[in-house]
Amino acid sequence: MIVSIGEVLIDFIALQEGKLKEVKSFEKHPGGAPANVAVGLSRLGVESALVSKVGDDPFGDFLIERLTDEGVKTFIPRDLERHTGVVFVQLIGARPEFILYDGVAYFNLKPEDVETALLERAEVVHFGSVLFAREPSRSTLFGILEELKGKVPLSYDVNIRLDLWRGREDEMLQDIERALKLADIVKLGDGELAYLRDNGISPEDFDFKLFAVTLGAEGSELRSGGAEVHVPAYSVEPVDTTGAGDAFMAALLAGLHYSNMVGQEAIDGEQLRKIGRFANLVAALSTTLRGAWSVPKMEEIVLMKEV
Ligand code: ADP
Repeated sequence: MIVSIGEVLIDFIALQEGKLKEVKSFEKHPGGAPANVAVGLSRLGVESALVSKVGDDPFGDFLIERLTDEGVKTFIPRDLERHTGVVFVQLIGARPEFILYDGVAYFNLKPEDVETALLERAEVVHFGSVLFAREPSRSTLFGILEELKGKVPLSYDVNIRLDLWRGREDEMLQDIERALKLADIVKLGDGELAYLRDNGISPEDFDFKLFAVTLGAEGSELRSGGAEVHVPAYSVEPVDTTGAGDAFMAALLAGLHYSNMVGQEAIDGEQLRKIGRFANLVAALSTTLRGAWSVPKMEEIVLMKEV
C-alpha cells in the first residue's frame, strides 16, 4: 500500500472571472495535492491510503465520503476545534489565484493522529511541502519522516506554494532542503527547479533513487544513478491542466509499483524511459478531463490511447 500524508481540502472555484468579492457563485471540488495523488493511485489500481485531518463538519464528511468512493483508505481523524480546509480559487486572466483559509484542521496534525504501524508497513510514504508551512503539522511530519528514513521509501513532491510562506521564504527553503535530504523519490516542476537553483539549492547535491522534473507540454526528465532520460509529452488538447503534476506523481509511483522497482537502488535508462512514458501518458490524459481528480482508470487508459 502507498500511503500519502498531507492536506485534503475543498477548492471553491469561481464560476466567472474576477476578484473574490465580485464572484457570485462557486463550484465545490475535492482537492489537496497528496489527496489527488492518493486518488490517482487508486484509479491506477494501486492500494492507496491518505493520512490527514478534517473538521467535524459537513465538508469533512464530504471529503471522507468522496475518498472512500474512490477506494482510498482514509486515516483522517476529526479536529474538534478547527474546520476542514477550504481554498477559494479566483480566476483572473488565465491564471488561477488561491486564497487559503488559515487555521484549518490539517495544519493541526499531531503525532497521536497518525498510526505509526500503517506507515511502517507502507510500500512508499508520499508527502509534499504544505504541512511544513504551519505548526504543529510541520513538526509532526518531520518527526514521521525522520523516523521512517531508511526503513520505508519516501516520496516527495516539492510543490512550492509561496503564498503560504510570505515573508518566511528563507524558512521554507530550509525546510525544503531538510525534506530533500530525507527523500528517496523526488518530483518537481521546471519552474520550481529554477527557483531552488536561484536560491542556492541544487538537486545534484542530493542522493535520490529517482528524480523527476516535469516540463509541462515538453514532457519530463528522469534521473536515477548515472542514467538520465528526457521523455517527450504525449500530444493532447488539454481542457484543464489542474492536477497534471499530481497525476504525473501518481503514475510515477504506480509505474515503480508495477515494475517492482520501489526498493531498487538504481533504475537503468530503459526502465526510466518506460516509467516516464507511462507518467507522461497518464498526466496528458488527465488534462483532457476537468478537475483535480482527473486520472483515468487503468482500463480507460487502454481505451483512450495506444500505450
Ligand atoms: P504542474 O501541473 O505541476 O504544473 P506540469 O505542467 O509540468 O506540472 O505537468 C505535469 C506533466 O503533465 C508533464 O510532465 C506532462 O507529462 C503532462 N502535461 C502537462 N501539460 C501538458 C500538455 N499541454 N500536453 C501534454 N502533456 C502535458
